[in-house]
Amino acid sequence: MFWSRIRLFSKLRFKAAFWFLILFAASSVLLFFLVSRYVANDMLRITDWLLESTVRDFTASYLTGKNTARYGQQVPFPEVPKLDLAAFQAHLPGIELLAAYRSKLEDLEFYTLFGSRGKELYEFRLGSDGRAYSRLLHPEQNLPFLRKEFEDKLQSFGSDNIYFRFRAPDGSGFESNELRKGGGGAGSGLSTITEDGRKFRVMKQPLFDGSVIEAGSSLQGIDERLTAYTRIFLLFLAGVLLFGTAAGYLIAWKLTSGIERVSDAARRIADGDLSLRVKLCHEADEVDQLVNAFNAMSENNEALVTELRTVTDDIAHDLRTPLTRMRGLAEVTAAGKPDIESFREMCGAVAEECDSMVQLINEMLEITRTESSINRLERTELSLTELVRQAGTLFSELAEDRKIRLETKFPADHEIKIRADKLKIQRLVANLLDNALKFTPAGGMVTLSLSKRDGAAVIAVRDSGCGIAPEDAEKIFKRFYRCDASRTLPGNGLGLAMVQAIANAHRARIELESSPGKGSCFSVIFPPEPEEINS
Ligand code: ADP
Repeated sequence: MFWSRIRLFSKLRFKAAFWFLILFAASSVLLFFLVSRYVANDMLRITDWLLESTVRDFTASYLTGKNTARYGQQVPFPEVPKLDLAAFQAHLPGIELLAAYRSKLEDLEFYTLFGSRGKELYEFRLGSDGRAYSRLLHPEQNLPFLRKEFEDKLQSFGSDNIYFRFRAPDGSGFESNELRKGGGGAGSGLSTITEDGRKFRVMKQPLFDGSVIEAGSSLQGIDERLTAYTRIFLLFLAGVLLFGTAAGYLIAWKLTSGIERVSDAARRIADGDLSLRVKLCHEADEVDQLVNAFNAMSENNEALVTELRTVTDDIAHDLRTPLTRMRGLAEVTAAGKPDIESFREMCGAVAEECDSMVQLINEMLEITRTESSINRLERTELSLTELVRQAGTLFSELAEDRKIRLETKFPADHEIKIRADKLKIQRLVANLLDNALKFTPAGGMVTLSLSKRDGAAVIAVRDSGCGIAPEDAEKIFKRFYRCDASRTLPGNGLGLAMVQAIANAHRARIELESSPGKGSCFSVIFPPEPEEINS
């Protein structure tokens, strides 16, 4: 679509603000529609009630000549006592009840009933003596009262939106004002009619003698009021929408700015700035989480890349030295006399260099595999007591050669077992013992011990060797790191990296105590549960 090509429209902040607005506008319009419908219905209901009660009053005036003070209070037909009704029917057979009034004289209640028979109107009353009194009325005599009441009502309403009208059967009659000119259009009861484009609500009450009383109200007022409400609402809506657009855009901008910062940082990191981190601005929890996760990921990546670079450099260095040596040997041999013995010697030296290079590469691969859990651990029930005993025997010859006293210590009364990869733990112990014997001078002492600390199995290798400086304590576990003092001794700096990788794979912890010149102690602490099996 054309508009999705414009960059602003495809931005999340614009989309969020836009849909927020659409939703807001649609719900406002719906709400306004419902409220205005309710208000219009309510206004119509009030108009209907007004018209009905007015016409009821007029009808009573036409029947009674507005002499209601004499008759008392008008009552609904069901409240008229059966006795009065029966007397009424008996006295004037075929009469139809039109209105009933109740008056009180001391404790006595009197009912005056009005009824029609054909076109004749009667007034009826049952006396306290049980006698019935009735008289024929001439309601046309009441028309002046009615006319007067039209005027009074009009004045009391104080509105020019209302009219009243009386029509006799012969078409003669009068009205309160000229609001509605036409006479037709409406049946009896309540109805809405349109006349010359104007809407009226009309109540028509046909009377017993064929005359009709009518009250009507123009609906223009209601329409005008609704139009005014609509206008106010639209103005308000326009204002709110304008404000809402700005506010929605700002909020969305604030929320998405965190995402933009992260994507910007990702771009710059991809360009090579590995040390870059995203600032935490506390816009929203989700954005903070994203920033934290991104920073943690960047930190890991940077550490990995740095380590990878170091390792690559170290490998390059460690391979370059034997390669250079081999090249030198080849050159010297080639430049010397063509003597089969010197060629044989050179081949032997080259084979040795190749072996050490292959060993280096194999060790590197094994560390990486152990670290990344590619080589899954072959965990079995392993007796550390047995393992320590065997290691002591195995290394005793080497210790003797170097004139070092090697001691092994383990609890004699019980065996310590764990679930672990036997070959890997053997490798771990061998590397530690190898280092201890390497960095301890003749006449020194190395102790391999197995014990329990807070339920955890601990293998410790203590020596009385050269010790390790505090600043080297952390670094010696990194690949290829060798302390300055040990560079003259054989080794490739991978032994402790392997020890660390094996310990990590078994979720074991390594502790190092060392003081330069006095000796070192490497302790490997295996987690007590669930790995360890108590014997
Ligand atoms: P390598 O023994 O092949 O040099 P390691 O990774 O086993 O490599 O050890 C790294 C370095 O840590 C050694 O070069 C040495 O400087 C130091 N180191 C390790 N064990 C001891 C020890 N028992 N006493 C003193 N220094 C040690």
